[in-house]
Amino acid sequence: MRRFLCAVAIVLLAFGQTHADITFNFNYVDVNTNSGFGFDDAAEGATRRATVQSVADYINTVVDHNGTVDITWNASINDSGSSVLGSMGSFYFQNAGIANGFVFDHATTGVDPLGGFDDGSGQINFGKTWNSDLGAPTAGEFDLFTVVLHEMTHALGFASLFNSSGGTEILGTRSVYDSLIEDGSGNRLLSGTSFVGNASDFTGGDLHIDVGSTTLELYAPGTFLPGSSVSHFDFSVSGDNIMFPGIAAGTANRAYSENDRLVLAAIGWNVVPIPEPGCGVILCITGVVFVVGRRRKNLV
Ligand SMILES: [Zn+2]
Repeated sequence: MRRFLCAVAIVLLAFGQTHADITFNFNYVDVNTNSGFGFDDAAEGATRRATVQSVADYINTVVDHNGTVDITWNASINDSGSSVLGSMGSFYFQNAGIANGFVFDHATTGVDPLGGFDDGSGQINFGKTWNSDLGAPTAGEFDLFTVVLHEMTHALGFASLFNSSGGTEILGTRSVYDSLIEDGSGNRLLSGTSFVGNASDFTGGDLHIDVGSTTLELYAPGTFLPGSSVSHFDFSVSGDNIMFPGIAAGTANRAYSENDRLVLAAIGWNVVPIPEPGCGVILCITGVVFVVGRRRKNLV
């Protein structure tokens, strides 16, 4: 079976030379306002913006679409005491039913959902200590590539719109991601756009997302954490997952796990198959860990 899959992967890679690219346009408020901070930092700003572009280039190796994505990086946060490293989300229309948001729609159709407006926005807390480039982070540094990849993946649609009572943060709209979530008994929380679960599910530690071939446990701690609960994998999920809720300083993880890819595919992205071991990508990576028990910082 493995031999067969590898052969398939090689064939697809050969054709992959022509696979399409999404055009990512990044708008940096730090730069527009000459803030001198964050993405406009005199020493690090250009490097940081190049790292964001490197993340976009990486995403283009994973998903195969030829539309456009317009992202605004809002004014960077400068809060060394905060546990938040960054945040990002897609915009959605109200009353859209079940949707992935503007980022997905623009990337996959090429049609700008709302001309003249961005598809998503986010920000980074540059009050923390960062590794801005593509070298390895030192012990006290958070890895910008890792965090930007995580945040941009939320914008791709790896995001719950549930509030703590099962309602939605966007009136009349549910995320495709939320439509795939089940309770511990395998019952979906949504029927169409109607919530048919129990509010206690969100803090019960037993939520899962159905990705077709399997289900994967989602982060549902005893206290509901807006923006973090449900929108990430539980730490018990195996693998070096980009979409865990937090990351330790001094670690980098710059490639999606199989689980990350499964969710992206389940919500509708055309995900390029992973080359088999021997090709030197993904499955060969070792030593990249989110260490449970070490002090983690929250990604939102
Ligand atoms: Zn997150």
